[in-house]
Amino acid sequence: MIIKKTISIFTVWLLIQPVFAQDSIPSYIITSGKLPQLAYSTGEDRLGSAKMGYIDTMVVMKVLDTVKNLYKVQLSSLHYAYLEKNYSQPFHDTTLSTVLCESWKVNGNDEHDSVSISLTGRVPYKSWMEIDPARIKIELYNVQSNTNWITQLSTAKAIKNVWYEQTENDVLQITIELTKQQQYGYSIGYNGKSLLVKIKRVPATADLKKMTIAIDAGHGGTNLGASGVTSGILEKNYTLLFAKELQKILKKQKIKVLMVRETDTTIDNRDRVLWAQQNNPDLFISFHLNSSGKSTTRGVSTYYKHIGYRSFTQSLLKRLLEIKGLEEFGNVGSFNFTPIQPTDYPSCLVEIAFLSNPQDEKMILDSKFRTKVANQVYLGIKDWMKSLK
Ligand SMILES: [Zn+2]
Repeated sequence: MIIKKTISIFTVWLLIQPVFAQDSIPSYIITSGKLPQLAYSTGEDRLGSAKMGYIDTMVVMKVLDTVKNLYKVQLSSLHYAYLEKNYSQPFHDTTLSTVLCESWKVNGNDEHDSVSISLTGRVPYKSWMEIDPARIKIELYNVQSNTNWITQLSTAKAIKNVWYEQTENDVLQITIELTKQQQYGYSIGYNGKSLLVKIKRVPATADLKKMTIAIDAGHGGTNLGASGVTSGILEKNYTLLFAKELQKILKKQKIKVLMVRETDTTIDNRDRVLWAQQNNPDLFISFHLNSSGKSTTRGVSTYYKHIGYRSFTQSLLKRLLEIKGLEEFGNVGSFNFTPIQPTDYPSCLVEIAFLSNPQDEKMILDSKFRTKVANQVYLGIKDWMKSLK
């Protein structure tokens, strides 16, 4: 009996062993899906781990480890990041060798400037903004420079200089110095094996009538958001009221407005980003209403992810603070919230007031306050556009 039992356990192990093998970590993955993004850590606060930025699809990386829903992926010999597993597919061709960076081209068309960087394969990258002086920085991983030729055409208007440094054996740091002081947005992704950076130009005039402004009413549908401490009103319904108020004011000024939603519909935050990237607005404003466990916490706050957009969020906050009874909660940077993650256009998240504070809640319920908020946001946009000259 004992022997028979031993055999049967061994048989069971043989049967389930392939299942374990299937579940094992792939050696390599290739990025896929809509908006894969790299993160610095596995940090799990309310907003998720701090984002390194979006990365294009079809980028192959070595998997070092797996942590819950994340893969720890190797970027270069000394750098790694985390990627959500469902934004990748196993990759079976394991001939991952160091990629060469070849010649670049800098030029412009009627709409934007571009920097095209030829590579012998798609590699992971991250990018960030710098201010004073205004620069776009890109770090390419698993790359060695063979760049001996950077052609620059006079059609490029927003770009002053481009250059690179091989900062580590397999890390290339690219600098794009801008002609204007203000960052106005850029997109980054692959065109075949070339990395293409498209740079938006600061509008030539502060004429808002030539602009398109996207308004995002936070939450909606099954995503209710916070609720009013005494009234029980839902954030999703009131963000929409504020958004529609701003829409009305901008339309009256003959400014083109794009609404992320105009009804009570559920829209995933990543879909809001994809929608905005497709529509390419000149500005993006997202309305939310705040909530805190402490009922005395109150006030208005504006948020940015990228330092290049801080001045925009400060302009809006300054005007909002002119509203009587609205206190300052602050200007918040590096904010890890999906709708303001894109680098493509200047964006600002406005947390108008706290639904968890009775005085703030009373104001939110007042239609005159909502009109005032929308009008002050409009004035803030105007101030900022004027400051760009
Ligand atoms: Zn919210």
